Amino acid sequence: MKHFFTSLWEVIFLFSFVFAFGIDSFTHEWYILFIMNTYICVPFYKTSLTDGFWKDRQKLNADVSIPNVYKRFKETDRIDCLYPKWKRPLSRSDRFYDSDTAKWLEAAAYVLHTNRADYPELEKLCDEVIALFKKRQQVNGYLNSYFQRRPFLPKFYFRPDHELYCAGHIMEAAVAYYQATGKDALLNVAEKYADHIRKRFMIKKNTAFSTPGHEEIELALYRMYDATGKEKYKDMAEFFLNMRGTVKEKTYRMFNDAYDQHEVPVRELTSAEGHAVRAMYLYCGMADMARVSGDKEVLSACKRLFEDACKKMYVTGGIGSDHNGECFTIPYDLPNNVAYSESCAAISFMMFCKRMLLLEKDGRYADVIERIMYNNLLSSTSLDGKAFFYENPLEICKTDLTRSRTIRKKPRLPQWQRQEVFGCSCCPPNINRTVASIGDYIFTENENEIVLHQFIACENDALCVKTDYPVGDKIVVRGKNYGKDLFSVRIPAWCKKATLSLNGNLVDAEPKNGYVTLKVDSGFILELTLDMTPFFVKTHPLCKENRNKVALQRGPVVYCLEEKDNGDLAPLAAVCSGPFTEVKSDLSPLPFIDVVGKELTADATYYQNECSAKEKTLRFTPYFTFANRGESDMKVWIPLA
Ligand SMILES: [Zn+2]
Repeated sequence: MKHFFTSLWEVIFLFSFVFAFGIDSFTHEWYILFIMNTYICVPFYKTSLTDGFWKDRQKLNADVSIPNVYKRFKETDRIDCLYPKWKRPLSRSDRFYDSDTAKWLEAAAYVLHTNRADYPELEKLCDEVIALFKKRQQVNGYLNSYFQRRPFLPKFYFRPDHELYCAGHIMEAAVAYYQATGKDALLNVAEKYADHIRKRFMIKKNTAFSTPGHEEIELALYRMYDATGKEKYKDMAEFFLNMRGTVKEKTYRMFNDAYDQHEVPVRELTSAEGHAVRAMYLYCGMADMARVSGDKEVLSACKRLFEDACKKMYVTGGIGSDHNGECFTIPYDLPNNVAYSESCAAISFMMFCKRMLLLEKDGRYADVIERIMYNNLLSSTSLDGKAFFYENPLEICKTDLTRSRTIRKKPRLPQWQRQEVFGCSCCPPNINRTVASIGDYIFTENENEIVLHQFIACENDALCVKTDYPVGDKIVVRGKNYGKDLFSVRIPAWCKKATLSLNGNLVDAEPKNGYVTLKVDSGFILELTLDMTPFFVKTHPLCKENRNKVALQRGPVVYCLEEKDNGDLAPLAAVCSGPFTEVKSDLSPLPFIDVVGKELTADATYYQNECSAKEKTLRFTPYFTFANRGESDMKVWIPLA
């Protein structure tokens, strides 16, 4: 209780409530909702996407990406590793394989939840995979195919071994599949495994470590708690979160304790450090803890971590710039051509921001979600839906690999082309599950209002949103039998000119924390127009990589130059002004943008006066479309002329 009574007003509120309504009517959840002014998510399955930008991507995801990921997982033994060793000898398997398969199941579950009738084959496939998980599970509940195929390896012995990470993904898949189909086979497996983990870690305490080396199980346990209402899962999540950083734990020899965020207890974390995906999954668990338990110290830590992560975020929403350990570095250290920026890291940042939006209506969280959605996330899948980026560079220069003619060892650079599967293939199914449930990011609600965060054409019982954003500039929201007093709409931070009208009357209201909140009746029409004129953005002066460089943005979509459209990119420079000419593109519904820049030349290696420059029209393409026309140099940040 020590986190609850943090102000006199709260104590006064509590006693007045109990005095007025009696002690029985006071519930913990009610108190949390009132004091913290929290929101709940309007889940994706309660809002159907209608025709438009994201509906198309969801269809591609369901029809092409998810089946293709399954195919590659089957080929790479990720499914067959669930059989006993004597039945299926494998070319290889790894300790995280079960998490890849579980994430794929979760993605498939989301497709079935919104569109079950259209995907009977997918459901059959899911049931087959779930049957394998069920068969693979030991009598005592333990389940990890890698360790079960190697019975000589001790279980829960080496902390970075991903056992609890895989368990978390099985739990997430189990909840998703149960909610989608009502089938509880995987949920039973997950519950049995959770009971085994509880027994080993919390009751018998006979494991070689006490917290996971790769976080994930914390947020998964909160999902289990939310889905089943069983307090023991909340207790387990709290156990892992409260224990973290309070005991000295073994980790990889080449990293320090910050690598997996256990250098201090979670409430004392001040900056986003270490492995970016691990960090963000941990912060998700912490945000869940703040929501469920009303823990204000954890909430403050989450806010600090968000602020710091924003200083370590690429303009595309990517995080974790260093490939060494897939880690965060220092604020504004954002190298472009060696950007690691793992797809999973950006996705987990979205997941963290989604949770923070339940705790406070602050548009900065939704702005980050939007930045990731339209850039890092979209770019991570090829336009044909078959291949994926694991790393997401912001610059490709092919001569980086060939400039030395004598040294055989090539420099370590991110991938330049998307791949269908990876040795560690965490990203493809993570992308699949995020696109399939993108509707989760549209609305939150509480007793008084619904808040519109992301502009996606959709419909539910209370609202209909019509838009072709981010191609078009207009968002029309129609309230029908709207049962609340207020409606809030986000005004994105990138937009300097927004026009809003309610029932045909112009609204002259400044956004507060990124939102305009309006009093509405049960039927209303709200029209929002966002100025989509392209604009150049700059980076904080402490970012030495981007000094005197600009990037082009149109709405939330970041653009880049590709060699395919512009020839050699090295001598090109931007003039920081328009006019901008939009040209229809055959790559996506977003246009190319042509803008006059400069092509620089010089007669000597070194010179003192201005170099010669001639005007050149630069053709920009949305970042998410790059590397879809073969290998090509690419640049997001362009030097100023
Ligand atoms: Zn990944």
